[in-house]
Amino acid sequence: MAEVKLENVSKIYPNNVIAVKDATFEVKDGEFMVLLGPSGCGKTTTLRMIAGLEDVTKGYIYIDNKIVNDVPPKDRDIAMVFQNYALYPHMSVYENMAFGLKLRKYPKSEIDKRVKEAAKILGIEHLLDRKPKELSGGQRQRVAVGRAIVRNPKVFLFDEPLSNLDAKFRVQMRTEISKLHQKLGATMIYVTHDQIEAMTMGDRIVVMKDGIIQQIDTPLNLYNFPKNKFVAGFIGSPSMNFLEGKIIQEDGLKFVENNNGFKLLIPQEYQDKLKNYVGKEIILGIRPEHIYDPLYTQISNGEKVRVLIDVVEPMGNEIYLYFATSTSQCVARIPAHEEPQTGIYKELVIDMRKAHFFDKDTEESIL
Ligand code: ATP
Repeated sequence: MAEVKLENVSKIYPNNVIAVKDATFEVKDGEFMVLLGPSGCGKTTTLRMIAGLEDVTKGYIYIDNKIVNDVPPKDRDIAMVFQNYALYPHMSVYENMAFGLKLRKYPKSEIDKRVKEAAKILGIEHLLDRKPKELSGGQRQRVAVGRAIVRNPKVFLFDEPLSNLDAKFRVQMRTEISKLHQKLGATMIYVTHDQIEAMTMGDRIVVMKDGIIQQIDTPLNLYNFPKNKFVAGFIGSPSMNFLEGKIIQEDGLKFVENNNGFKLLIPQEYQDKLKNYVGKEIILGIRPEHIYDPLYTQISNGEKVRVLIDVVEPMGNEIYLYFATSTSQCVARIPAHEEPQTGIYKELVIDMRKAHFFDKDTEESIL
């Protein structure tokens, strides 16, 4: 059993920065939980408080139902993998991996067994005699993970472990860490600002902004049911498009974009929930993948718009089309059947059943 629980945890640094405010969440036994958010949102501070490397200003942290606020890091039975790997340069890979166990006075034979087992899991058996400077970034990263594995901790904590790797290797290591999680079945908490990493690896994701938790949910629920405009814009790539306008009553409810922009009929199923917003300012969110090229995709309830394409980005299997509306710069993701030109008008279709609606003042989701 290795559950981690935070109850109203806050961190105020001596310079009065409120890095984390009232964080409450529970990481279940064997769960892969991701802390996600932009730079400075407080995710590293949260992880460091769980590790015991940072004091908690207010609230409680529990590991297996025991309050650990005053338990020193070495007695928390957790292992942390840092962004810069923090390997000892003068020690070999073997010694780096064995170091923590040596400190804890494990017998030599047990240390040897654990180091070799971990090296096998990570495919670094042939590197055990090398020094860190003789390794690639990815290999160093594996050694850092290996050092955590040998300790067989209750909980693994990862602080942006892939951010120093090049793009292709990140993808490979991402899968490796996910496989490792399946193999070990351990509780893992993983910090990243990369939403793709979070979406592909996490069982659940804690989305943070300015020290405050915005939503805790599975990757799919975050994508489909974002609680507010921030989460909606942070999850998904390219980001959701946001148009500003009003709801009006005109043969059913319509969204009318400000400054004579788009006029879009709201689907029947949303009309009831939006009727209190008639006459009010609202933000409509639509993901780039929910805007279609009508030449190739037929959808019911689609609303046609005519736009001036200002940038075309071919991605191979698909194309990103950029265009301005009266309140926003937007992008559509369409299949690469042909390469549209820039500077031409094109008809696109917005799937209004996939649209999101946010209150202009609170930015909370309305539906
Ligand atoms: P990043 O992705 O850039 O690492 P983060 O989301 O992990 O960001 P934190 O490092 O937790 O964010 O920082 C949260 C806030 O606390 C920031 O405003 C940061 O400037 C501040 N902060 C972090 N460490 C300290 C410190 N030791 N003393 C004072 N303020 C700090």
